[in-house]
Amino acid sequence: MEGWMGKILWVDLSKQSFQIKPLDKNIIRDFIGGRGSGVKILYDHLKKGTDPFSEKNLLIFATGPLTGTPVPMSGRFSAITLSPLTKTILDSNCGGNFGLQLKHAGFDMLVIEGKAKKIIYLAITPDSIKFENAEDLKGKTTIETRNIIEKKEKKKGSVVTIGPAGENKVRFASAENDGRFLGRGGIGAVMGSKNLKAIYAKGDKKIKVADPKSLEFFIYESRKWLKANPITSTGLPKFGTAVLMNIVHEAGILPINNFKSNQFASASDLSGEEVTEKLFIKKRACYRCPVACGRITKTSSKQGEGPEFETLWSLGALLGINDISWVAETGYLCNELGLDTISAGSTIACAMEMEEKGFISVGLKFGKKENIHKVLKDIAFRENIGNEMAEGSLLFSRKFGTGNESISVKGLELPAYDPRSAHGMALAYVTSNRGGCHLRAYMIAPELLGIPKKIDRFSDNGKAGLVAVMQDSAAASDSLIICRFASFAISDEYFSRLLSAVTGEDISTMNFRLIGERIFNLERLFNLREGFSFKDDNLPSRLILENLNKKRKINIDKMLNEYYRFRGWDDNGVPTSKKLEMLGLK
Ligand code: SF4
Repeated sequence: MEGWMGKILWVDLSKQSFQIKPLDKNIIRDFIGGRGSGVKILYDHLKKGTDPFSEKNLLIFATGPLTGTPVPMSGRFSAITLSPLTKTILDSNCGGNFGLQLKHAGFDMLVIEGKAKKIIYLAITPDSIKFENAEDLKGKTTIETRNIIEKKEKKKGSVVTIGPAGENKVRFASAENDGRFLGRGGIGAVMGSKNLKAIYAKGDKKIKVADPKSLEFFIYESRKWLKANPITSTGLPKFGTAVLMNIVHEAGILPINNFKSNQFASASDLSGEEVTEKLFIKKRACYRCPVACGRITKTSSKQGEGPEFETLWSLGALLGINDISWVAETGYLCNELGLDTISAGSTIACAMEMEEKGFISVGLKFGKKENIHKVLKDIAFRENIGNEMAEGSLLFSRKFGTGNESISVKGLELPAYDPRSAHGMALAYVTSNRGGCHLRAYMIAPELLGIPKKIDRFSDNGKAGLVAVMQDSAAASDSLIICRFASFAISDEYFSRLLSAVTGEDISTMNFRLIGERIFNLERLFNLREGFSFKDDNLPSRLILENLNKKRKINIDKMLNEYYRFRGWDDNGVPTSKKLEMLGLK
C-alpha cells in the first residue's frame, strides 16, 4: 500500500537495542495510522493494570498515510500511551515536523519500551539509530534542549523534547516539537519516566503516493473548500484560535474563576484582536497548512509561541486575570518548563479555590498574578506545594480539599467551554476516552457556531447521535492524520478520497466512518479493561448541581442512556457482542 514506508522502529531503552518490524497491513487497513494504529498496538501489547510510569508502558509515535504528502493541514503526528494523569488511553496530536522527519527516515511509527539507565536522547536517521548520552541536558528547558541537540546533530531535523516537568514526572507534562506541543495527558511525563529527554529525527526518503493525478485534484478541491469557509479563510488566519474568545464569552460559555462564573468584564482584553494589536509578530503554520493559525508573539521583555485561545483562557480568564502580556509570558514559561497550559492553569485555579476555602495557604488568589510563576516552577521541579499539584488537580484536591475543586473528567482538566451553556459538550466530555477533552467531538461547532447547522445548546435531546458521529469522524481523521480545524471546511467524503488517492485502496466515506467507530470502541474497551465503568462517565458535581444560566440544567443520565443505545452499548456502557462483531473487534 502506498503512502507508507512499511516499517515500524521498535526501541527498547532498557537494552539500548532496536528492531525494525514490518508495518502490519491488517492494522493499517482497519485502523489507518496515527491515533488508530497506535491505539491498536497499545491495546494488543500493554497488560491490564500496567503502571504508566513503569518500564512496561509503551510510548508510540505514529504518522499517518497523509504525513509528508502535499495534502493541506496533514503535517502532524500522534503520540499514544497509557496516561499517567488519567490512567486511560491517551493520544495526543502535534503540528511539529517530527512525524515528517520520522517518515523521511524510513519509519511510519516509533514504539518505545523500557527505561534508559541514564538520561539519553534518541537520534533516528535512515542510516543509524543512536542512543546518545543526555546527562548534560538535565534540567534544561524544552527550547534549550532543542537548540543544543540541533547544534550537535548538525543536519536540521526535528526534535521532540521535554522540559524539567517531564523529567520530574509531572503528570500533565507536555512534550515540545518545533514550537508545537503534545499537550494533554502527560506524554512528557512518560518520556521522563523512561529517562528519554528528546528524540531527534532526520531523513530524506521519498514518500510515494498511489494516484498523484487524483491526489492533485482532491488537494485543489480541498484548498477551495478551505478558502470558501469563513473560519479557515478569515477567522483563524487573521486572529489565530483566539478569534473564539469574544464569541465564547458573549454566549456565557467561557468558564471564569474555576467554573464558578461565566461573566468576566475584561474578557475582551484577552481576545484575538488584542493579541494582534499588542503581541503579534508573525503567523506560524504547521507543514503544508494554508491556514496558519499559530502565532509568534512578543511582550516588552520576551518572545515566544502563542498564546492560543485555550492558554489565554486557562492562564487568564479562568484565574480572573486580564493582563494579556503577563498571560503570554506565563504561556511561554509553561512551554519552556514543558507543562500543558490547560492542566497547569486549571490546577492553579483549583488551588485558588482551595485557598479561598481555607484548605491551603500558598498565596494564590483569583484575579491576582502574585506567586503564580513561582508555583508553576515549583510544579515543574516538584518542590514545596508544587510536588502535590504535579499530581494533577483531581488527586491534589482529593488530598487537601473536598475533591470538588478539580473541574475534570476522568482526571483530565476541562478546557474552555462550560458545558452548562452547551449541553452537547457535556456529553462529549464525559464520553471522551482520554478524559475531559473538547477535541473528540467539538459540539461548540453546531451548538454555538452553527456548523453544519445551529442546534439548541441548552437542550439534552438529540445530542447523543451527533456526539457519537463526530467522535467517530474525529477518530478517523486523527488517524489520517489531518488537523481538526480542517473539518470546519472539508468533509469526511473528501478525507476518504484523499486517503484513497494516497494509498491506492478504495475507501468509501462509510468505511472511513466505520474505521473511526472501530477506533473509538477499541479505546472504550481499553478503558474498561483498566477498570473504568459507566460511573466514570460523569461531570464534576458543580456542573450538574449549580445553574449559572437560569436555563435548563444538564440531564447527563438522559443523554448517556441515549448515547449508549445509539452506540450499541449495553446499559452499563459496555459495547455489546453484536457491536464488537460488526466492528471486527471480537
Ligand atoms: S490550522 Fe493551525 S494547528 Fe491546524 S495545521 Fe494549520 S497551523 Fe497547524
